[in-house]
Amino acid sequence: MNLSSLGFFRTLNKTNQQYAVIGLGRFGRSVCSTLHRLGYEVLATDIDEKRVSQALTEEITGHALQLDSTESAALKEAGIFEFDTVIIAIGNYIQESIITTLNVKEGGVKNVVAKASSEVHCKLLRKVGADRVVFPEHEAGCALAQTLTKPAILDTFDLDPDNSIVEIAIPDEFDGKTVAELQLRNRYGLNVLAISDKTNDGGDEKFIINPDPHKRFEKGSTMVVIGHNKDIDRLPI
Ligand code: ATP
Repeated sequence: MNLSSLGFFRTLNKTNQQYAVIGLGRFGRSVCSTLHRLGYEVLATDIDEKRVSQALTEEITGHALQLDSTESAALKEAGIFEFDTVIIAIGNYIQESIITTLNVKEGGVKNVVAKASSEVHCKLLRKVGADRVVFPEHEAGCALAQTLTKPAILDTFDLDPDNSIVEIAIPDEFDGKTVAELQLRNRYGLNVLAISDKTNDGGDEKFIINPDPHKRFEKGSTMVVIGHNKDIDRLPI
């Protein structure tokens, strides 16, 4: 399970099948290739012709165009304003990123996700109307610090600053006990959403969702819980 990716991809509504990505740096390229691999229609654009042809050669997108996104007319002509979701992946050129975001919002795009490279950049993007701002370096740094200090927490999805969904390695003292016996809701205020299925010997990790109260926790497997961060911190991990 990769909870961290939810943070970004939850903004990309399944019913919207088409995405435009502006900027083909490392971040833009990974967004393109993931959406493309998931079977969505993606239009990739960049001011740099070489990056556009590279994206096509490497087949990380079905369609790619060279354009200067600071020019509203170029975006209009390329049909960018018709997309439900536009991802502005220009992190290192703040002026271009801000102007592009403004253009795309003024063009009427409903869902604009923009990459920020600093706190100030993040604030500016919000001011010009970005619906969601992602700060991948900051998010990756926080996640790394968390995994270093709490290695049993395998993945985290922040619902808000106080509440999270986390995937946790089953603590030793839970081994062999049932969901009912442990009373996680009463003792910790946490709800167990899923337990990894150790009986599944196929390659992919499988989960039992809403586990039965008689389901036993086993060392070596994982559980996904939802709750307040302070309560998650009280777990014996
Ligand atoms: P990194 O690659 O270091 O992770 P990043 O993903 O934020 O960073 P940038 O270095 O910001 O990427 O580059 C984003 C891309 O945006 C570059 O390929 C650049 O050519 C492109 N770009 C910059 N200005 C414009 C513009 N006006 N119109 C379209 N594309 C642009």
